[in-house]
Formats: sequence, C-alpha cells, structure tokens
Amino acid sequence: MKKIAVPSTVPTNPEKWSSSSKQSYIYESAPTEYKDRHYKCSRCKEESVYTAEAQQEAYEIRKAYIWQTRKLCINCYRARVDLEKSLDECRQLWQSEKNKIHADSQFLIRWLGYLEAYVQYGGKSDKANIKMLKTLIDDLKV
Ligand SMILES: [Zn+2]
Repeated sequence: MKKIAVPSTVPTNPEKWSSSSKQSYIYESAPTEYKDRHYKCSRCKEESVYTAEAQQEAYEIRKAYIWQTRKLCINCYRARVDLEKSLDECRQLWQSEKNKIHADSQFLIRWLGYLEAYVQYGGKSDKANIKMLKTLIDDLKV
C-alpha cells in the first residue's frame, strides 16, 4: 500500500530560537506553527519535504538561523556531509605531508574531484585550492 503523506504541523516556541533568529523581524510576528515545506533538491531535483518536526529540531534545538532552509534532499545532504569529511582529510594530509604528496597525481586529482563536486552540492567554491591543484596537475603532465 502506498503511504499517504499527512501534512504535519508543530507549534513554534520562538523563545527557543537562537539569538540571531530573535534579532530577525520575523521574531516579532512569529508564526504559531511550523508547517511541512515542499521543495525540489537543488542538485538532483528530487521532490522533498522539510518536515515541521525537522524544522523545530533545527531552529529550537540545534539553534539554526530562522531563515536557514533546506536545498538538498536527504541523499544529497548525506553525500555532501561525506564530501566535507573527505575534503577535511585531504586538507589535513596536505598540511602534514605536503612535501611527499605535492607530486602525487592520484591524490591531487582526487582532491580536485572532491572540491569540484562540493560546489554541485551547494558548497562554497574553494577557488584558491582548485587553481593550485590544476596548476600542480598540469605541471605533472609532461
Ligand atoms: Zn538530491
């Protein structure tokens, strides 16, 4: 049987919002309830729902800024978190082993791949490192 999505609402408690959320004009006329928000994932275009429960959790427990919203579906969001981990590992490796790996084309290409993919997941483009890696990779192609 197909599950029918029941729209849900959760009462808001703006007192639990973060201090920056409370500085937003919406705090003065805060909505009385969170409502499910429907959106399309900005990467894969999958129809997704930002549930009322998830909004309450984000704004009142994790203290996310009240205007922060979801742009990625859950799968793309998880992939983005994995990418962030991989990027951290590359940066750490680069800091500790730069002399050994600056001519390791496999490492350089892998890192560049992560950086370019990250932008597709709505991440900030790390232009300086992308440029550096492209230069290093070009230099290795003789
Ligand atoms: Zn997606």
